[in-house]
Amino acid sequence: MPLLIAAVVYWVQVMRQPIDPRLKRRHVGGFLIMAIGVVLVGLWVRQRPEPSNGWFWGEVLGVLAVYVLCWSLVLATRVRVLEPWFGGLDRMYLWHRRTAVVGFLLLVPHVFLVRTAAGQSVSQIGNGLGVLALFGLAALVIVSLSRVAHLIRLAYEPWLLIHRTTGLFVAAAVVHGALVDPLLRASAPLQVTYLIIGGIGLLAYVYQELVARLIARPGAYVVRQVERLAGETLDVTLDAVTAPIAVRPGQFLFVSFGGADAWQRHPFSVAGVAADGSLRLSIRALGDYTRALYARLEAGAAARISGPYGLFDYTLGGARQVWIAAGSGVAPFLSWLRQPAGLAGRSIDFYYSVRTQADALYLDEIQAVAAREPGLRVHLIVTTTQGRLTVEQIQRDTIGRLIDTHVFLCGPLAMTESFTRGLHAVGVPRDQIHSEHFAFR
Ligand SMILES: Cc1cc2nc3c(=O)[nH]c(=O)nc-3n(C[C@H](O)[C@H](O)[C@H](O)COP(=O)(O)OP(=O)(O)OC[C@H]3O[C@@H](n4cnc5c(N)ncnc54)[C@H](O)[C@@H]3O)c2cc1C
Repeated sequence: MPLLIAAVVYWVQVMRQPIDPRLKRRHVGGFLIMAIGVVLVGLWVRQRPEPSNGWFWGEVLGVLAVYVLCWSLVLATRVRVLEPWFGGLDRMYLWHRRTAVVGFLLLVPHVFLVRTAAGQSVSQIGNGLGVLALFGLAALVIVSLSRVAHLIRLAYEPWLLIHRTTGLFVAAAVVHGALVDPLLRASAPLQVTYLIIGGIGLLAYVYQELVARLIARPGAYVVRQVERLAGETLDVTLDAVTAPIAVRPGQFLFVSFGGADAWQRHPFSVAGVAADGSLRLSIRALGDYTRALYARLEAGAAARISGPYGLFDYTLGGARQVWIAAGSGVAPFLSWLRQPAGLAGRSIDFYYSVRTQADALYLDEIQAVAAREPGLRVHLIVTTTQGRLTVEQIQRDTIGRLIDTHVFLCGPLAMTESFTRGLHAVGVPRDQIHSEHFAFR
């Protein structure tokens, strides 16, 4: 009952917010994960044996762990139909990480509680699979912590390869539960529920690892033009070979170029979408792959593009907006400014933060749009001479109207997180803070 009341209060709060209904919809995914979890616990409690001891609660935690781990596999599939319910692929990945970590953490008390109840387990194979799942998932969670990955210098590609084994350990956990849990063997409703959960999770894994790759039909593009800009940035224009992909400004794509480092898929935001379907990308040389692109990419190279993904879209925000771009995070804002129809009637403070004046790429173009659009004010922040942009400065510029403002942030994770915290602390509701950060791990 208290949970039901909390859920109703939560929904009333979400529905009463004066925001675009599409922004309300992104609460549904997370809510559903929790609501189904609560129903599962209720279902298991109804079937509990008398007396129900610590062992029973250990089993419940084990089932919940399997449940959230299966969600983690579903959320890794990049199925576009799920995007609106979570708020874009980046937020799906956030929930993917959350559910994986919670699933692993639930396994710890599960192991402790069921181990202390001797004589319940009947299957050696089942026990072995449980141990395999526990240690495998522990290792995967640990190498996914950004500090650990940094410490052991684990690059993205090998990390991704290791990470893709997650489904095998979740499969071990699912089979372990089916073999060793006496509650499941004694109750048909629990068996069916457990099989549906495990089945959906494992199907999602098989789909992502085998089927999705086979049925993927990336759009064929060719590089029309490559410009090498300051700060090791490439400005790339691509033409569709066949039908162009329908991309909204602000979205991102998975792009692979043919050539020496052939067909590695990397995500890039569109920096421009032209009426003829051609796309502009602004790619900063950051690591091995992007440096190789900067050195070698030329006009005429073939490209494959899949997507689009993401719901980073200023037209979802209200009349007052603040945009904050850091470095190469300017790309989605450029795509918005290159289709300026939605700017009319809006009051926008656009902060473009760069390290040095020479890093302020596209500044002339941005200022030319601002000269035509009376509601757009551009603030260039050169951090080496002016210091970092602060929430206080934004508050001063927006003259106390920040609470009614929608804020759009794009750049490194540390920047988007710090502004999200800072803006929320001065009263900007979370649903009015929209961010895209340029990393998935
Ligand atoms: C949604 C999104 C939009 C982006 N848009 C832009 C953009 O418009 N312009 C731009 O310059 N950069 C953009 N990036 C960042 C860009 O994807 C990375 O800089 C690039 O993939 C780095 O690859 P690397 O091998 O050169 O560097 P590495 O040193 O190997 O990687 C640096 C970081 O980039 C990420 N990364 C690397 N490879 C991949 C991959 N295959 N898939 C996913 N992430 C990877 C990881 O977080 C990694 O830690 C975007 C990233 C994301 C997630």
